[in-house]
Amino acid sequence: MAGRKGGIVDVLGLYVHVPFCSAICNYCNFNRGLFDEALKTRYVDALVREIARTGEAGGTGRADTIYFGGGTPSVLEPAEIARIAKACSEAFDVTADREMTLEANPETVTADRLAAFRDAGVNRVSFGVQSFRDEELRRLSRLHGAARAREAYAGARTAGFDNVSLDLMMWLPGQRVEDWMCSVDEAIALAPEHLSLYLLEIYPNAPLKEEMARARWSQAPDDDAAAMYVEAMERLEAAGYRQYEISNVARPGRESRHNLKYWTDGEWLGFGCGAHSTRDGARWKNVSATADYVDRLDSGEPVAVDVRRLSRAERLGDALFTGLRLARGLDEDAIARRYGVDVWQQYGRDLEPFLENGLLTRCDRRIRLTRRGMLLANEVMAVFV
Ligand code: SF4
Repeated sequence: MAGRKGGIVDVLGLYVHVPFCSAICNYCNFNRGLFDEALKTRYVDALVREIARTGEAGGTGRADTIYFGGGTPSVLEPAEIARIAKACSEAFDVTADREMTLEANPETVTADRLAAFRDAGVNRVSFGVQSFRDEELRRLSRLHGAARAREAYAGARTAGFDNVSLDLMMWLPGQRVEDWMCSVDEAIALAPEHLSLYLLEIYPNAPLKEEMARARWSQAPDDDAAAMYVEAMERLEAAGYRQYEISNVARPGRESRHNLKYWTDGEWLGFGCGAHSTRDGARWKNVSATADYVDRLDSGEPVAVDVRRLSRAERLGDALFTGLRLARGLDEDAIARRYGVDVWQQYGRDLEPFLENGLLTRCDRRIRLTRRGMLLANEVMAVFV
């Protein structure tokens, strides 16, 4: 049965986590590990078992997106992607028009592999490009160079993909605003349907932090980071992209349907180690360690931990928090219908100062972050937490 909230039936998104990478990048804080052929084989079996088990438990429903994220899902063989997708279709009523995204690193794909992924049912590829400048990619210890990224992109087009996304990262060590804009311009010239732009965050124990200290690389001042964000968004808009979320732009109609579920109070099930799920007012997370996940599925033990039923207040808080990430803003009427809460009445007093200093706007019963507000989103969103 599909999830129901306030009479609204949600079509699920399915997320499949693939925790393997060919090398570990010096800034990475994701749930991932080095590729290990034997463990990968067991992991794919475990994934298929977890998906089937959800089906047997009667937890199925309609799903219209499948998203392979990681890690580096493109280190799997196309046949393995096909097998996991088939398990999804057997356990869920996957719609014919489903969006099936594969996150891919440029160095893991060839035109032939991309064609095989397409045959496996993938219809959207999201490349982790990060930069079109070799020097920056080396500093991030990425395995690919700019030429390899261009080649991968061309390979996707040759394979017939008409929905391609590129990830770029700004505020890299030693990166100036003009360096960043070179990458943005190059991305625009390739004309993908979708782009995600992230600010590099350097977590305390990241090897990159030490390398930066040794090599005396620093990140540009905060004002430059803000300029990188604003100038990129303006240039992308001038090129026909529409910003629909703090970090995401797309050609009209090419927004990520899967990721929109996270920002529109939707429901999703995550499979694989460390994957999160949200359904029917409950939230849970799978065990993080790959071997632990595989062992548990082998022995028939549950993989979900931290299962929590969310209170109405928590669900409302999440809906407000994530909804504000969208460029179209929070729909006060939709929140009132779903949660019976008048957002402005409840939070207006705390939000008013942000309206006055130009971080928020309120119009037609929608509350939106301005572009400057998007840079300081956490401060505004703290009102809802
Ligand atoms: S490829 Fe992605 S997930 Fe893998 S180590 Fe690098 S940043 Fe992390």
